[in-house]
Amino acid sequence: MKERLPPGKPVHLFGGAGHPLILPFAVALGIDLFDSASYVLYARDDRIILRDRTVRLSEVKVDRIPCNCPVCRKYGVKELMSMNKAERERLLAIHNLYVLWEEIQEIKARIKEGTLWEYLEEKAGGDARAKSALLALRKGLRALLKVIPDESGRVRALHITSVESLHRPEIIRHIERLLNNYEPPPQGCIVVVLPGELLDRPYIRDSLVYWLIDQLSTNNLLSRVHVVINNPVLGPIPYEISEIYPLSQHEYPEPTPNYLRTLSHHLLRKYLVRLRDRGGSRMS
Ligand SMILES: [Zn+2]
Repeated sequence: MKERLPPGKPVHLFGGAGHPLILPFAVALGIDLFDSASYVLYARDDRIILRDRTVRLSEVKVDRIPCNCPVCRKYGVKELMSMNKAERERLLAIHNLYVLWEEIQEIKARIKEGTLWEYLEEKAGGDARAKSALLALRKGLRALLKVIPDESGRVRALHITSVESLHRPEIIRHIERLLNNYEPPPQGCIVVVLPGELLDRPYIRDSLVYWLIDQLSTNNLLSRVHVVINNPVLGPIPYEISEIYPLSQHEYPEPTPNYLRTLSHHLLRKYLVRLRDRGGSRMS
């Protein structure tokens, strides 16, 4: 729905987003404003909201709630337990609201840093419902890409650590551009595929790549040879676009585990088939 609204219009979510586990996902879906009575309702039930979970006051087995809010700094668990119900409810509501406020500050910081997606992955790692939210978010991602700001101008390296990372907006965007928008060199070009694993990033500064491009240039062959680097995770990266974010600015575990290679195999084949169908021969 968000993509049909003017980008400047805020979207308000009524109720239902009153937990720190939900808030960043709601924000990723394009929600700008929230309201929720959860902080009071949880307090009424002696339930404490924490950044990554909810616990009952009676379940806290240490002297103090692991929190730095004014209530938790002042009162221990036993003290809270011994209070009358109304006073305890008031104080727990203040605590709960404080944790929600803290979460909002974290989300704001993540948006400014351009690390909201990493944050969602972190949240999804420890909670089944958050994981479901991440999976649902992935499904709607293509529509969402129209409204998520393009962060390709940012300088921070993208960290690819799990299969989830391969569904990040920046990577989905790159694949779409590569397969649908990128205009490969004209028919008749020779295609050279270089193994990305042997090269340093940014590829343009790798001495072997430099040497190859220099040779091609000296022999006036540059316009007739299409140099493609096969990145073990992201697949085919045409030399001409290898500096575009995040094609040089990313990190992945080395040696690269097999589960991170499936996308690259699939994309390389798709890319080469596309070149073949335009005409062109491959040399590796
Ligand atoms: Zn607290």
